[in-house]
Amino acid sequence: NADLAMYRAKARGRDNYQFFSDEMNVELTRQLAMEAELRIALQQDQFELYYQPQVDLNTGKLIGYEALLRWIHPEKGFIPPSDFIPVAEDSGLILPLGEWVLRSACQHIKQFTERGLLPKDGHVAVNISPRQFHDANLVTVISDLISTTGIESQQLEVEITESLLMENVDSTIATLNMLKQLGIILAIDDFGTGYSSLNYLKRLPIHVLKVDRSFVMDIPKDKDDMEITSAVIAMAHKLGLRVVAEGVEIIEQADFLKENQCDFVQGYYYGKPMSVADLYENIRNFDQWHSSTTGG
Ligand code: C2E
Ligand code: MG
Ligand code: MG
Ligand code: MG
Repeated sequence: NADLAMYRAKARGRDNYQFFSDEMNVELTRQLAMEAELRIALQQDQFELYYQPQVDLNTGKLIGYEALLRWIHPEKGFIPPSDFIPVAEDSGLILPLGEWVLRSACQHIKQFTERGLLPKDGHVAVNISPRQFHDANLVTVISDLISTTGIESQQLEVEITESLLMENVDSTIATLNMLKQLGIILAIDDFGTGYSSLNYLKRLPIHVLKVDRSFVMDIPKDKDDMEITSAVIAMAHKLGLRVVAEGVEIIEQADFLKENQCDFVQGYYYGKPMSVADLYENIRNFDQWHSSTTGG
């Protein structure tokens, strides 16, 4: 195992080659094992989408949800996306998995709308990984899903990360334009963690910017984070973008974001990601519950 490999390397002094090689072997073996399990998981339907509410800060109303993937392994139980998404991405399994996510989300959008759990002008946001985004079939897959499920295209929001935007700028913009043509909403996730220049951001056909949780979590203690967050909100508005703040956990953060004209919020303070069954039970009183937690 890795500890043993490190011990051996230390014993051998400066001969670090063996250490890296062993550790890489361990990592590779782990990845291959998980890849095999992911294949089985796809066949056996071990995945589930959870939904986390997004709220309009001005009206206090529910405006939609972010769909978050969950792997419920029959023996290991819950495996977080941060563990398996990278493996799915590296192995290419993210393509069938990502398509499953998109299809499930579109079907849920239909059901939520019919049950009155999603406003007509509301949306469900789906995370798209870089490999999935650069796949030549993505636009066709999404456009087919919109027509077969019969949802409104603006009820689907697609989240891509800032780092993805830095690769193949021209093809990225072309794909974004095709998606925009379909009428779906385009969001940049985890904003502030990548390196996109403001000039570049201006050229992108996007609608929404999501401020990364790392800027929100230390508000109101960290004055720098407060400055950055308010500046990002102001800049996004100048570029005509709406802003979602991620990871809002306490009322002080909600208040600060509201004072600084942030449009939408998402976080444990408003609701954790929940299963569809939980959502059906809990979301009925959402507006009512919510306005009592934000003080109007
Ligand atoms: P993300 O897209 O930035 O999603 C937000 C993450 O923050 C979620 O973690 C969510 O549960 C968590 N979160 C939300 N509010 C709070 C809060 O108030 N406090 C804290 N501490 N955390 C909060 P999760 O569900 O573990 O997902 C992690 C990441 O995995 C996502 O980050 C996204 O990058 C990726 N991911 C999840 N589902 C999918 C998917 O269907 N496809 C792809 N490609 N990636 C996915
Ligand atoms: Mg996201
Ligand atoms: Mg995010
Ligand atoms: Mg994230």
